[in-house]
Amino acid sequence: MFDIASLRELLAQPQKIVITTHHKPDGDALGSSLGLYQYLIQLGHHTTVISPTDYPDFLSWMPGNGEVMIYTENQDAAAQLIANAAIIFCLDFNALGRINQMGELVGASPAKKVMIDHHLEPEDFDDYRYWDINACATAQLVYHFIVEELGGKKYINADVATCLYTGIMTDSGSFRFPGTTSAVHRTVADLIDAGAVNWRIHELVYSNSSEERLRFLGHCLSEKLAVLHEYNTALITVSREEIEKYNVQTGDTEGIVNYALSITGIRLAAFIVERNDKVKLSLRSKGDFPANEICKKYFNGGGHRNAAGGASDDTLEQVTNQFKAILPEYKTLLIQ
Ligand code: 5GP
Ligand code: MN
Repeated sequence: MFDIASLRELLAQPQKIVITTHHKPDGDALGSSLGLYQYLIQLGHHTTVISPTDYPDFLSWMPGNGEVMIYTENQDAAAQLIANAAIIFCLDFNALGRINQMGELVGASPAKKVMIDHHLEPEDFDDYRYWDINACATAQLVYHFIVEELGGKKYINADVATCLYTGIMTDSGSFRFPGTTSAVHRTVADLIDAGAVNWRIHELVYSNSSEERLRFLGHCLSEKLAVLHEYNTALITVSREEIEKYNVQTGDTEGIVNYALSITGIRLAAFIVERNDKVKLSLRSKGDFPANEICKKYFNGGGHRNAAGGASDDTLEQVTNQFKAILPEYKTLLIQ
C-alpha cells in the first residue's frame, strides 16, 4: 500500500520527480504544476515539469516557466526523465489519454504516480490520489496538499504563491464560479500574504492579448455568433480558414465561449473550432445544466458540469449540425 506516510517518507530524501499536466495546459494546469515545482525544488528534489504541448504567451511568465520541458520538442529527454523518476505528479487531469503520447510513458514508468485533481471519474492509473471534485482549482488542492498533508506552510514563498494564485484565479473565473467558497478566499488571502501580487497577475493573464487576438474576438462576436432562442443556446463556429486568416495562436480562443454564455437567459454556449485534423468543441453552461454529459455522450470528451470539452473527426458542418440536433433532447433543461 502506498499511502501519505509512504509518500512523506519518499519525499524525506531528494528524489527524481516529474510533474506533468494535461495537453494544452491552461492557467490551473500550469499554475498548479509550477507551484508544486517551486515547493519541491526548495526541498532539494530534482524536479522537472513536462507539458505534453506548448501553451499560450499569457501563461508563459510564471516563476519557473523557463525550466518547463515541452514534450513535443524534447521527446527523448522527456521519456528518460519519466522512465527514471521516483515520483510522477499528475496534476489537473485524471486519465492518461489527456497527456497524449506521454500517457504510455507515464503508464509504463515504475515511478509512484500521485494524482492531484478535481475532474470527475478518475481512471485507475495512480498510486496515491488527492482528489476532490468540489475543489475550484487543482492549485487549491496543491495548496492544501503542501500545507496540510506535507506540513510545508513555511515553503509557500512568493514563487509558489504566484503560481498557485494564477491557477485558482483562472479556474474560478476570477473568483466568480460557484466553487469559489470562503475557504478559497482564505487560501487566496494566504497567497497574497506570501507574496503573490494579485493585481499584477490579473494584468499578466488578462491584459496581455495581441491585437490580432482582439480582432479575432470581434470577428467571432459580430459575424459568427448564432443565438438559438428556442433552446436558450448560443454558439460560435470557426473554420480553419478563419484561424489562418487571423493568425490565431495557442490560447487565443480561450474564453471566447464565455461571451456567448453571457447573454441574458442563455443556459448553454458552444464554441466549435476546426483544428488541424479535428474539430474541437468547448461547452459552457449556467446552473445545473450538464455540459459534460453532452461532451461525454456525443463528442468523446467530458469535463465539469458547467465547463466541458470534446472533439470529433467529422467536419465542422457535421459537428455543428450534430450539436444542434442534440438540443431537443435537452429542451426541458434548457428552457426552465
Ligand atoms: P475547454 O473547453 O477549455 O477546452 O475545456 C473545459 C474543460 O472541459 C476542461 O477543464 C476539461 O475538464 C474538459 N475537457 C476539455 N476537453 C476535454 C476532452 O477532450 N476530454 C475530457 N475528458 N475532458 C475535456
Ligand atoms: Mn483545473
